[in-house]
Amino acid sequence: MAFLSLEKIKPFKKKIYLSSPTMHGEELMYMNEAYSTNWMSTVGANINEVEHLVAQQVGCGYAVALSCGTAALHLAVKLAGVKSGDHVFCTDMTFAATVNPIRYEKAIPVFIDTEYDTWNMDPAALEKAFTLYPDTKVVMLANLYGTPAKLDEICAICEKHGAILLEDAAESFGASYKGRQTGTFGKYNVISFNGNKIITGSSGGMLLTDDPAAANKARKWSTQSRENAAWYEHEEIGYNYRMSNVIAGVVRGQLPHLAEHIAQKKAIYERYRAGFADLPVSMNPFDPETMEPNYWLSCLLIDREAMCRQVRSDRDALYLPETGKSCPTEILEVLAKANAEGRPIWKPMHMQPTYRSHAFITRNGDGRAQTNAYIAGECMDVGADIFARGLCLPSDNKMTQDEQMRIIELVRQCFA
Ligand SMILES: *Cc1c(COP(=O)(O)O)cnc(C)c1O
Repeated sequence: MAFLSLEKIKPFKKKIYLSSPTMHGEELMYMNEAYSTNWMSTVGANINEVEHLVAQQVGCGYAVALSCGTAALHLAVKLAGVKSGDHVFCTDMTFAATVNPIRYEKAIPVFIDTEYDTWNMDPAALEKAFTLYPDTKVVMLANLYGTPAKLDEICAICEKHGAILLEDAAESFGASYKGRQTGTFGKYNVISFNGNKIITGSSGGMLLTDDPAAANKARKWSTQSRENAAWYEHEEIGYNYRMSNVIAGVVRGQLPHLAEHIAQKKAIYERYRAGFADLPVSMNPFDPETMEPNYWLSCLLIDREAMCRQVRSDRDALYLPETGKSCPTEILEVLAKANAEGRPIWKPMHMQPTYRSHAFITRNGDGRAQTNAYIAGECMDVGADIFARGLCLPSDNKMTQDEQMRIIELVRQCFA
């Protein structure tokens, strides 16, 4: 945009969040129950019940309630047998929590580029990675923003190469692929109840698996690995990763509202899509034939021709306003002025200071050589391209239709 003065934007009185917790009342009842029965620790009826309910809901054998999704990912990595120095193929454009647990075990993540159809791991790049690192035995896959990856292709490639799939479904709880819930495609899978996820326990996460021995192992590791002995006997390293019965009470109260939250998020996504139909942008995509996302976050991708100039260093961003064009930096600035919270797309791991020395595999050529050119906006890998042109829109399910219409109007003005 070229005309609008940021100072003239009137802020919402009440901040519009990206995605904040939505409570319903039952949470308090189950928390109270934990309190009044004095099951305030990591044992109790709420924990047992949420493990049972989630396993039933997702359609997996066992759910293990843990302190957070990251803890669940760490145990998934350990269950997969990942050892120091092993290569693990990993989604590149995701939250760092997907990959950090690989480093906790001193293994080496190899990042796999993204595809444009679902913004998830590119099966073609994954196939190529197996030709470069044929000994790799574990793949860590995230379903971004609530949209399932191309799971048929990914599963087939893992099977062909005898690799274990780990599914990070932290953002996609309740989403399905060909009628099957995400969080069931890997051997070990993870969901999160972090405060901004589709349902929340304030914190918390779960490991999902069909393997009863693995579920028991995860329960043992998560409670400091005590052996069945008269004293604290330890044969292996343990962790303090178990979910609290109070947190489980919140999750228990939230679970009946999962479908309702998904419906609200879907309505938000559809309103954005309709509101931007004539703009040079697209929404985060999925295949309606095979996928039912949970619509956790609505995201926008600006057409290449409609991008004004934008440069980013490791910490800062600059742009040149231009009539008829915009960029994520400008839109996020406008939203912030209006007291509404947007967010850049997850900055790809291969571009992160702590990870950029790691291998990065694209479907064509060497990703690293292309990455250097990303400021010029040319020859980028897919992850860097989506990061440069995309953003997450306010997707809070408590946002009113009027508030959303105003946000749509603000974004539209950016392209005036
Ligand atoms: C939120 C999230 C996690 C981590 O979950 P926590 O419960 O916050 O530890 C992991 N992976 C992805 C993709 C996430 O979005």
